[in-house]
Amino acid sequence: MLIDAHVHLDKYGDLFDDALREIEQNRIFTVATAMDLPSFLELQRIGERSELVLPTFGIHPRRAAEYADRLQEIGPYIETSPAIGEIGLDFHWVKDAASYPAQRKVLEYFIAAAREQKKFVNLHTKAGEREILDLLEKYDVRRAIIHWYSGPMDILRAMIEFGCYFTIGVEVLFSDYIKGIAKAVPDHLLLTETDNPGALRWLKKNDEAGMPTAIKEVVDRVAELRHSTPDRVERLVHANLARLIVNDPWLGKAQQDALR
Ligand SMILES: [Zn+2]
Repeated sequence: MLIDAHVHLDKYGDLFDDALREIEQNRIFTVATAMDLPSFLELQRIGERSELVLPTFGIHPRRAAEYADRLQEIGPYIETSPAIGEIGLDFHWVKDAASYPAQRKVLEYFIAAAREQKKFVNLHTKAGEREILDLLEKYDVRRAIIHWYSGPMDILRAMIEFGCYFTIGVEVLFSDYIKGIAKAVPDHLLLTETDNPGALRWLKKNDEAGMPTAIKEVVDRVAELRHSTPDRVERLVHANLARLIVNDPWLGKAQQDALR
């Protein structure tokens, strides 16, 4: 079974039915991460349509400033979500330093909730890698997916040591640095993602939405880089996600069964 452990399924617009059909036809287990509250509410509706889609609630660091004073309001939505994401820090693409305290406040609120509710997290770490690892350690949140890691190699190693999982995504098709990361992640922590529809559009600088089956190209390239086969990488990543969420009481039976 193919695994897309980080995707923005609510952003497909007119292509949504095509995207869902690709997911179903290719049996892609999909962790559908939210950007903000409306995004999560939409993902919950989408999740009802397929046992292959796991909708998760988070506030993206780009949207943190709008939510920093609304934490009481979002608390109940965190409780209804089986996992947490997308959350994180972005001190690279988000240039407005005035938003950084809000990013930190929102992130810590979600991490504390993950700790309390024993939920796994899906993290965006751009230029906040060290700080995020410190937070995971502080709250002892052990079930963490680091999405699209592109930070320093020494922090990558420290995160590996801590037991974080890493999604390798479509940038592995373009970037030597990401290829290096795809080789450095140990077998037992390797996951795959597309981060579509936006990721391929952004990397290719066009306006064509990246589709769910792009995950196959990721698997092929990761296999090549790791001197493996696509089939072996697919099975390895499936086993890793299954281990990460095995017996997770927040996952419905349909999703647990789909992952078996
Ligand atoms: Zn994302």
